[in-house]
Amino acid sequence: MPGRTSVAAVSQGPVGISAVDVIIAKRDGGRLADEQIDWVVAAYTRGDVADEQMAALAMAILLNGMDAAETSRWTQAMIDSGEVLALGDVGRPLVDKHSTGGVGDKITLPLAPLVAACGAAVPQLSGRGLGHTGGTLDKLESIPGWRASLTLDEIAAQLADVGAVICATTPTLAPADRKLYALRDVTGTVEAIPLIASSIMSKKIAEGTGGLVLDVKVGSGAFMKSRDRARELAETMVRLGTDHGLATTALLTDMSVPLGRAVGNALEVAESVEVLRGGGPADVVELTVALAREMLVLAGVEADPAAVLASGAAYPVWERMIAAQGGDPAAPLPVASHVETVVADRSGVVGLDALAIGTAAWRLGAGRARKEHPVQAAAGVLLLVDPGDPVEAGQPLLELHTDTPDAVPGARAALAGGVTVSADPTPRNPLVQETIR
Ligand code: URA
Repeated sequence: MPGRTSVAAVSQGPVGISAVDVIIAKRDGGRLADEQIDWVVAAYTRGDVADEQMAALAMAILLNGMDAAETSRWTQAMIDSGEVLALGDVGRPLVDKHSTGGVGDKITLPLAPLVAACGAAVPQLSGRGLGHTGGTLDKLESIPGWRASLTLDEIAAQLADVGAVICATTPTLAPADRKLYALRDVTGTVEAIPLIASSIMSKKIAEGTGGLVLDVKVGSGAFMKSRDRARELAETMVRLGTDHGLATTALLTDMSVPLGRAVGNALEVAESVEVLRGGGPADVVELTVALAREMLVLAGVEADPAAVLASGAAYPVWERMIAAQGGDPAAPLPVASHVETVVADRSGVVGLDALAIGTAAWRLGAGRARKEHPVQAAAGVLLLVDPGDPVEAGQPLLELHTDTPDAVPGARAALAGGVTVSADPTPRNPLVQETIR
């Protein structure tokens, strides 16, 4: 067509690399050369490699993998697609954490102020939730007035002043990932370990943190259902961090049951505040402290995060962190207009499956199916018992919270088989299962 360049004509690299050759090389089980990786990632970001070509390449990578050197180069190409944040000297060592996502995983909320209260600075650039795991920004947006978008100068100033920032990632950070992740989401290629690892690590390396602790979840409510795959992902990410000069540690942690008792945006903020005031559920406290310990080791800060958390000293940091972003930490949180209770149909020992509870919360309105969908601040599931608790027939087990009562039958259907009362207790997995350095 006159005046137009076809995709086939432009998806040709300057040194004779073409998108089709790159796809075929990986389709046939070969290694990609450094120049092929650099070119295909940059050309895709510019729009010179078509979505269907990148989708074919992502599928070839999912099926045939990438070795450590290819994955490292791919990660660097994703970092190079945007800018690396220059946060400058904020007067304290920078250290961050990333979770692969789970049900009731609100740990970032108490963790960032806790680590700041101990003397390090946490630049937590986060995303929104998709599917049954909630996003950190969605949770914080349930606080009246709180705003997720900050400029680089605001991030640096807040780190120097408060020591903790949780905000939206900037569009200039690894733009290749934004485009590629959206494509993987609709082409069945999210699960490729080299693509997950490079996606997460390119954003964290570009964020400019000095150390990183990864919380890699394992179990029904996690991305990685098996311990072997979770370990492989964790090892790949730790190696990528180390290769790129970012001190990285990973914990493999249990996600077969929900974390804490609150699942849903405002419900999780309320539970996080309990933890910050020195209370809260034991598992949320245990994981917050375990991650904080690892972060402080990487930051070279000597402090006892368990004592700091128990004393309530992290709570004033939370108040300042929320207020710095326009939020009112004292404002009442939104409350759902409709609450229903799920009761035990017999006596016995309770089992709670993370995926079932997460899906129920999502259907009640706490999560989104597409990234442009809104979430309900007050929707979610509140657990009234812990997994393994003995209960009597008729005893309330859960509350379903929503502003859209029509959603309740779908939520109850999601719970079928996932909330059980049986004669035999299922032993609870240890929360922190492995540490990978
Ligand atoms: N989270 C990310 O940021 N990227 C992935 O590929 C998967 C989870």
